[in-house]
Amino acid sequence: MSKGFLLVISGPSGSGKGTVCAELLKRHKDIVFSISATTRKPRPNEKHGVNYFFLTEEEFKKKIEENQFLEHALVHSNYYGTPRDFVLNEIEKGEIVLLEIDVQGALQVKKNYKNTVFIFLLPPTMDELKNRIIKRGTESEEDIERRFRNAFEELDFVGEYDYFVINDEVENAVRDIEHIIEAEKLRVKRHSDIKKKVMKKEER
Ligand code: 5GP
Repeated sequence: MSKGFLLVISGPSGSGKGTVCAELLKRHKDIVFSISATTRKPRPNEKHGVNYFFLTEEEFKKKIEENQFLEHALVHSNYYGTPRDFVLNEIEKGEIVLLEIDVQGALQVKKNYKNTVFIFLLPPTMDELKNRIIKRGTESEEDIERRFRNAFEELDFVGEYDYFVINDEVENAVRDIEHIIEAEKLRVKRHSDIKKKVMKKEER
């Protein structure tokens, strides 16, 4: 088994991160999702402790002061943060921990956690991106515009990532990510006992 590692997936609002990550988690029991905290209001289908930990701004800021976040950022006017203890414990257990976070958060993780794999999820086109945000129907017109503007800015950071995946079809995007994970599990640095493993097989 390879050592645990962090898998960061970022991408603009409407790139389909949520759907792709949900499918990935359904298929791979060795991937654990890190539930973020946020000050954003829950959407109708979202549950506290499942999609996010929904906090007040006061609660969120207290957690920042207590250094409880691995990274945190202000995204589309709301705070979002990754719980530090949960993530580090899971990695210690050898799990792959999936963080679905924005570019600012990814840059903070990049600075502090060297073994992380960074994937940038892209829509097939920016027109399609806008259609998807509008179709989702959960954001106000002002919020749609803000998310679309931010998407262009986020694209400038794709060069900071290890891999890009185009989400034309969920199935294709999930398959690409599965290939990335399989290759990453075989990185020599993720194993401390390769020689021992082979020697054991010889002895049998
Ligand atoms: P949404 O409000 O659509 O659920 O998420 C908005 C943005 O916040 C997305 O780009 C999502 O990846 C990002 N996000 C979600 N959780 C976190 C987090 O813990 N940290 C950071 N930095 N971004 C997050």
